[in-house]
This record gives sequence, structure tokens and C-alpha cells, in this order.
Amino acid sequence: MDCLFCNIVAGKIPSTKVYEDELVYAFKDINPQAPVHVLVIPKEHIASAAAITEENSAVVAHVFEVVPKIAKELGLENGFRVVTNSGDDGAQTVKHLHFHILGGRPLQGQMG
Ligand code: 5GP
Ligand code: ZN
Repeated sequence: MDCLFCNIVAGKIPSTKVYEDELVYAFKDINPQAPVHVLVIPKEHIASAAAITEENSAVVAHVFEVVPKIAKELGLENGFRVVTNSGDDGAQTVKHLHFHILGGRPLQGQMG
């Protein structure tokens, strides 16, 4: 399977690592939309939020356990946003589940 983020996890495509453990990998977005823009992904390939099941949801809980650590590490004490885009209407461009962490400036309130 030719998945961009699986290749990033495997180190075949370079990325700027922010956090890593046995389950998840976090790295800087190549096209940042805010002063801090990090992507947190499960190492396991899950296509999108629409593919989360009872069998694979533990890694999603783990993502949200590491989000506060990453946010603190990156100085986001004043707040941040966590977003996942799913499917075509959700404007998902990379078909490997990822959570955007955005912060470092006051974000707009609208959700699209
Ligand atoms: P989506 O639009 O699917 O929610 O988010 C995909 C994100 O992946 C985008 O914000 C895009 O900038 C980022 N991205 C796409 N290709 C690469 C890449 O090769 N490296 C990194 N670090 N980010 C990427
Ligand atoms: Zn993948």
C-alpha cells in the first residue's frame, strides 16, 4: 500500500518529528496554517475517522493522551485546536488518520 503517512512513519519520507512512542508519531505539517501546526497520527494505518472501530479505537484514545504533552512542549498554554478531516466533504487529502494540532495565534471561531 502506498500511503504517504505510512511512509513517513517508516522513515522513507523525511519529516520533522515532534513526538514518538510505540503507537503514535507526531510531526510538523509541511504547509503550516498557524505558527504551530503538528500532525499526530497512529503508526497503524487507519484510513480516516470514518474507519475507527471498537477494535482500533484504543490508539485514538492514546492520541488524545499525548496531545496535552505535545501542546505543553510546544508552548500552547494559551490554547489550541485539534481537528481531523474525514472524507471528501471533510476535505481530507491524506487518507491516513491524522489529527491536526493548531495554535500559536488566536484561531478563527468558524468551523468551515
Ligand atoms: P488533510 O487535508 O488531509 O486534513 O491534512 C493533510 C495535511 O498533511 C495537510 O495539512 C498537508 O499540509 C500535510 N502534508 C501533506 N503532505 C505532507 C508531507 O509530505 N509532509 C508533511 N510533514 N506534511 C504533509
Ligand atoms: Zn497509512
